[in-house]
Amino acid sequence: MKLLMIHVWNEKERAYRGRFSSLLSYPSLTLAAIYSLIPQGVFSKIDVIDENSQKVNYDKEKYDLVMLSFETSSSATAYRHCAEFKKRGAYTVCGGYHATALPDEAAAHCDTVIIGPAEISIPSFIKDFVKGTPQKFYKNYDICATDFTIPARDKITKRKKLAIPAVVADRGCNNCCKYCSMRTMWKSNPRPVESVVEEIKALKSKQVIFYDPNFFGKREYALELMQALKPLKILWASNATADFGYDHELMQAAYESGCRGVLIGLESLNSQSLTGAAKRFRTPDKYEEIIKNIHSHNISVNGCFVLGFDHDTEEELLALPERVDKLGLDMCRFAVLTPYPGTKQYEEYERAGRLLTKDWSRYNQNNAVFRPTNMTPERLNEIYRQVWKESYTWKRVLRRTFSSPWRKKPYIFILLGANIGFKFLGIDKRN
Ligand code: SF4
Repeated sequence: MKLLMIHVWNEKERAYRGRFSSLLSYPSLTLAAIYSLIPQGVFSKIDVIDENSQKVNYDKEKYDLVMLSFETSSSATAYRHCAEFKKRGAYTVCGGYHATALPDEAAAHCDTVIIGPAEISIPSFIKDFVKGTPQKFYKNYDICATDFTIPARDKITKRKKLAIPAVVADRGCNNCCKYCSMRTMWKSNPRPVESVVEEIKALKSKQVIFYDPNFFGKREYALELMQALKPLKILWASNATADFGYDHELMQAAYESGCRGVLIGLESLNSQSLTGAAKRFRTPDKYEEIIKNIHSHNISVNGCFVLGFDHDTEEELLALPERVDKLGLDMCRFAVLTPYPGTKQYEEYERAGRLLTKDWSRYNQNNAVFRPTNMTPERLNEIYRQVWKESYTWKRVLRRTFSSPWRKKPYIFILLGANIGFKFLGIDKRN
């Protein structure tokens, strides 16, 4: 039997990467993780396609089973793949965030839906598939430490990539931000520290990115993990929440273990917007102090902002580039508020009749897909593009880079490259 696994990408989202796509893109951790769950000896051939850098060819091979993982903005592409592969006699399986949020919708397009994490569900499905008794839905969130497998990265790409390898220690987050789809998919369930360390050692890379949505969320676990990372002498970055900037013991431990950058969802400079979004940290007046504290530990900060909350006004959003300057961030990113299916934000907007479309391909954080309160959706889109453009003038790129705590370190070039990369990512979002 032959198996094909696809990490599906929306055509528009992958286009901007152009011909350097396969070199620069991150190898799909999703595909590597799913590959590691496939029992050995069942399939005579397993192919993988990461649509971020590879094209799907329906006729290259005849597959018995095609498994697709995708997010909301890629769902229409995924369903089209399902229809084509079904026509060619394959059994199709959908999983990932969107299929988890809307399993009945996915089930209308494929034969089986994996709801939630794959660790237990995929091996169970394969067992049933081989017996000829696959079920329509598989759902099991009760993952324990022994269910985690090391992602099979070597099976996903033989090509040398420039991107820094990614690792996950804990996929979950115990916060409840209204727009976040993380909780639909994962519970906080940290992997054993030894297993994370073994995985990093095997990568043979001196730089690692932790994809954890909230690396410091379980404080004692984070301290234990960071203690174990010290002897590896790696440099790493991950996501954090704003309160990290008040915990000097945690920041010191992070620096000593090699942390040189954190990405924080600051989201808004309006405390009412933060309250409305159910953020745990709701005091934007403290952001400048927090960023200074983190910088005092020689850790850089990439701050992310969301535009379109109910309390956002045009004036406030247009002032963002200038206000962000004052915070002293090393990088900044912007997104239009997107009510993903499965989130509280989505339920709220749907109940209130505020969703403008269910064309999921537009749920990509670059378009208003709901009716904002203080401006039209078109105006929100214009402001979003303007904020990106103004925040990434050459003057601002250089000022941010050369006032960073990294300015006296050799890795200032990484920061400069990242700022220039965001400048062009911003240009892409304006189109
Ligand atoms: S802190 Fe981040 S990962 Fe956690 S719920 Fe909020 S947005 Fe999601």
